Amino acid sequence: MEHKRRILTGDRPTGRLHLGHYVGSLRNRVRLQDEYECFFIIADLHVLTTKNSPEEIAAIADNARGLVLDYLGAGIDPAKSTIFLQSAIHETYELALLLGNLVTVPRLARLPSIKEMAQAALMDVETIPFGLLGYPVLQAADILLPRAHLVPVGKDNQAHVEITREIARRFNNLYGEVFPLPADLVEGDTLPGTDGQAKMSKSLGNAIFLSDNAAAVRKKVHSMYTDPNRIRADIPGTVEGNPVFTYLDAFDPDKTTVAELKERYRAGRVGDVEVKDRLTSVLNAFLDPIRERSASYAAQSGLVDEIIYAGTLRMREIGAETLREVKKAMGVAGTFNRIARKAEERRKKLAR
Ligand code: ATP
Ligand code: MG
Repeated sequence: MEHKRRILTGDRPTGRLHLGHYVGSLRNRVRLQDEYECFFIIADLHVLTTKNSPEEIAAIADNARGLVLDYLGAGIDPAKSTIFLQSAIHETYELALLLGNLVTVPRLARLPSIKEMAQAALMDVETIPFGLLGYPVLQAADILLPRAHLVPVGKDNQAHVEITREIARRFNNLYGEVFPLPADLVEGDTLPGTDGQAKMSKSLGNAIFLSDNAAAVRKKVHSMYTDPNRIRADIPGTVEGNPVFTYLDAFDPDKTTVAELKERYRAGRVGDVEVKDRLTSVLNAFLDPIRERSASYAAQSGLVDEIIYAGTLRMREIGAETLREVKKAMGVAGTFNRIARKAEERRKKLAR
């Protein structure tokens, strides 16, 4: 049987996933599961680059469980795909250290994403921690450890896959072909927030979460930003850039009704409440099966942990194999063995 090509992608366990994640990445991942062998990384070491107090670290386990419940709810199938915890893969740390020699500091410092992350964490690019600067190298280790061929990423992470390719190319040239050069697959559109801001984001407080219940969804939808000029239902409204219609476009399977609603909205023949009522039922119909699936996993005590555990053990095996080949190719594998052999000989001689 021919081996499937591999995918590596994942998330930092910093909170629950929202509709933006669904449109931007989850939906795509669920689709790719059959064609590819998928590895989903719970990137908790990447959390440490910006959040590393004992309290923040203690929150990771529950965040990881929540993240995986959202994956499972959205349709990621643990029978097909491997979900694993990054910090439990010793080989990732080792590989990251070895790869760090194949990229320069200015190359990393030039990345807009590093600057943005530094700013977001209220840090200066000149004085950021080594770990934050090295974030893309750790990501390269994540991708290269399972020898992934394809990396679905958001636009913000595309440059990191490019660095990964540069590192892999350099490795292969220096030490021999160990890694495939991973391609990036830029994921779906960016979903705006309920406040009309360009991006739904959990830290902006403008997100509808996959785990929100029906009442929470209703409340969030009914307080959504719409056309601010429309103070009465008979004033013609603007559909473009109106997040209520962006969401209808994204989630309402009945395109004809959405088109009609847009016409009436433009003509000032429908109130915001009616549109929002429709969006509420559309979103709840969309979320129902997701919530049900997550709930059924959550109801089985220890099952989510078992899924993460099994995935992590599998990734460890794959990681150990890659690292063995990496060290062999580099020639660092035998150094200690040669020294140990000689030392053991001496010990035996002395013991005689
Ligand atoms: P935070 O507020 O902590 O930054 P977030 O809600 O913005 O969290 P991230 O963890 O930054 O989520 O997002 C991870 C990835 O999820 C992004 O790289 C992107 O691919 C995808 N994503 C996040 N928000 C959206 C969105 N609104 N629309 C589309 N994709 C999104
Ligand atoms: Mg973000």
